[in-house]
Amino acid sequence: MRIRTIILAASLIIGAVGPLWARTSDKSAAQKPFTLVLDPGHGGKDSGCVGDISNEKTIVLNVAKMLGEMVKEAYGDSVKTVFTRNSDTFISLQERANIANRAGGDFFVSIHVNSVDKRSPGRRNITGASVYTLGLHKSENNLGVAMRENAVMELEEDFSETYQGFDPNSSESYIIFELSQDANIKQSLEMASLMQGQLTGYAGRADKDVRQAGFWVLWSTSMPSVLVELDFICNPQAERFLASKNGQKKCAEALFRAFKEYYRHHRPNAS
Ligand SMILES: [Zn+2]
Repeated sequence: MRIRTIILAASLIIGAVGPLWARTSDKSAAQKPFTLVLDPGHGGKDSGCVGDISNEKTIVLNVAKMLGEMVKEAYGDSVKTVFTRNSDTFISLQERANIANRAGGDFFVSIHVNSVDKRSPGRRNITGASVYTLGLHKSENNLGVAMRENAVMELEEDFSETYQGFDPNSSESYIIFELSQDANIKQSLEMASLMQGQLTGYAGRADKDVRQAGFWVLWSTSMPSVLVELDFICNPQAERFLASKNGQKKCAEALFRAFKEYYRHHRPNAS
């Protein structure tokens, strides 16, 4: 009888504590902010692509900062933005991914500006935005973009050790991206398509499509991710747009509009 009373008392306590604990847990899960990692490419000794009047590292930092401000203003504490860099400093590709992974990011957006080789005859006319997700390139052009962005690792000492022998200039190295299973591809493609739509529709960039290629930063981040190429700095008209405050604002707004839509799909009950 006494034992039964104790069991009854214990189950009453558990019964009382259980739902309370569950409620607290649900509440904290609902309140956990969405973590958006913004990765302005290049920085410091690495200028990225260089045009006639501007360079990639400055343009993408400005765009990322504007985007961060827009997100902060719209969402307050509901969305936490984490920057891989917020000044003109050199951060390795692996460290960018480490920052995102440590922050437990819900989405990783790497922002870049495109260019083509100086020997390429059509380089002053080529124009348009492309948003990349991780995958095996379907064309030599896409491979070329990934090779250029990945080649930044060569600026690091001991890069071959850090990147486990990956050679950014050898197409054979890119086989690892074919073999990898990307669990986040669905969300990555969804964001890529939203951003591509806004960069072309809202920011008026020509449409160079959503594409796939093997970018190290996308491969080593453990969350949905995209790499945005805003437009071509080697095209004088596109460069004037990218280098202008208004052009940068348009690009940031385009990315923000895409993020808003993505967030609405994935956090329908959030404020
Ligand atoms: Zn770049």
